[in-house]
Amino acid sequence: IKESSVKTVNPFTNKTTKQFDIMDDAVLDTKIQNADDAFKLWKKSAFSDRKNLLKKVANIMRERKVELGALVTLEMGKLHKDAIAEVEISANIFDYYADNGEKFLADQPLETPIGSAFLSYEPLGVLLSVQPWNFPFYQITRSAAPNVMAGNTILMKHASNVPQCAEEMENIFKEAGAPKGVYQNLFIPGKKASELVADKRIKAVTLTGSEPAGSAIAAEAGKYIKKSTLELGGSDAFIVLDDANIQEAATAAVIGRMWNSGQVCTSPKRIIVEEAIADTFLEKVKEEFKKIKAGDPMDPETTLAPLSSEKAVENVIKQVEKAAKEGATIVLGGKRIDREGAFMEPTLLTNITPDNSAYNEEIFGPVFMFYRVKNEEEAIQLANATDFGLGGSVFSGNEKRAQNVARQIVTGMVYINHLTGISPELPFGGTKGSGYGREQSPAGIYEFVNPKLIRTT
Ligand code: NAP
Repeated sequence: IKESSVKTVNPFTNKTTKQFDIMDDAVLDTKIQNADDAFKLWKKSAFSDRKNLLKKVANIMRERKVELGALVTLEMGKLHKDAIAEVEISANIFDYYADNGEKFLADQPLETPIGSAFLSYEPLGVLLSVQPWNFPFYQITRSAAPNVMAGNTILMKHASNVPQCAEEMENIFKEAGAPKGVYQNLFIPGKKASELVADKRIKAVTLTGSEPAGSAIAAEAGKYIKKSTLELGGSDAFIVLDDANIQEAATAAVIGRMWNSGQVCTSPKRIIVEEAIADTFLEKVKEEFKKIKAGDPMDPETTLAPLSSEKAVENVIKQVEKAAKEGATIVLGGKRIDREGAFMEPTLLTNITPDNSAYNEEIFGPVFMFYRVKNEEEAIQLANATDFGLGGSVFSGNEKRAQNVARQIVTGMVYINHLTGISPELPFGGTKGSGYGREQSPAGIYEFVNPKLIRTT
């Protein structure tokens, strides 16, 4: 049997359980044509039809959340309880755009001294969406929900290691009654997705993933003058000011960093603590580490799941070893867990100097990087000393002080006394090397529509 790159490898056992054929050019051409044909009708469909479709998708997802969650756990290893929560939030996002899409896209009257005018929001056409594996259902929902509501049609290229989740989403749309071509799944390698951008029938592209993939796809979009959005990596700062509730901050930081085994774009990857409370905070962090329990991701007692693949563990361990060689201290962890599966010890790194590679890299695994700073100014400086600009947190007992710090952090999102979170009505996205554009919230539905001016008589 020919080995395919599109396959399910259970990271808890490292066994391949299913393989899929990569779609050839003829199949792809048919799918692109289906999407383009569907657009011609879908763009004229009533909002009530689009709303009904999304509502049905949301309901099916909720009804099947336990089973869909198990598929997520099988393919990329996350805790089953977290996978179920992911399916629920995805259903909520479908509902959000179903309930509000018509309102967001209603004609917008414009004030002008030269007569009267309005904006008409018109869908662009076929949207190519390229998504990562770390939240298999949530990631595809973020582009699918607003864009199906806006009247666009979707070609979804999901990550190669979550093909069953990808296929299930297409099935859910079918079951919900989506017209042929409105939502289709593509089994192709990443590079092929970049090549597709050139196709005249594809009008826009969105990618969530790493910087190299984002850069590759945005270069193509630029070349062919197509709208793109990018949601890329992050190295979010989690700032703990000296007036914070130390226990709450320590608990949140550890939970946040270990969530999804550290494989979250907005995970608090750099914990920055003011000198006056640094020792106490670190002691509490060590206590929190003791509570972490690695194991079977289907077991509700487990708190640390395997990483998404063998390669992922190898890469993270290499990054940690390199950091240690360059002078960082491994206080806890740093190695594989001696058992079957893609497991890594929860790891605590300190003494990371600006010349250390870990200072600048995104570490996509359960690695808690602790920084001690003299004061608030130094905390802000360090938070901004990265090419990334995705999210961040500020913990403080003084709301005004925290907001003042939040305003000075150059990212797309900052949460006060809270981990960077997800809610359908709040925008998600970054700046600097973390990309551009927003998903979720009203902003998410305006990315791939043409706000057309109509100047009336
Ligand atoms: P990745 O390698 O960039 O993969 C993401 C997607 O891009 C996959 O579907 C992949 O396909 C595809 N891809 C790879 N190379 C491509 C290319 N040259 N042209 C077009 N598409 C390409 O990312 P990853 O390492 O799996 O995912 C983790 C990264 O995503 C992290 O940096 C994380 O921070 C980021 N992320 C960001 C957000 C956000 O909202 N900002 C959310 C989640 C994750 P294949 O699987 O077939 O290679």
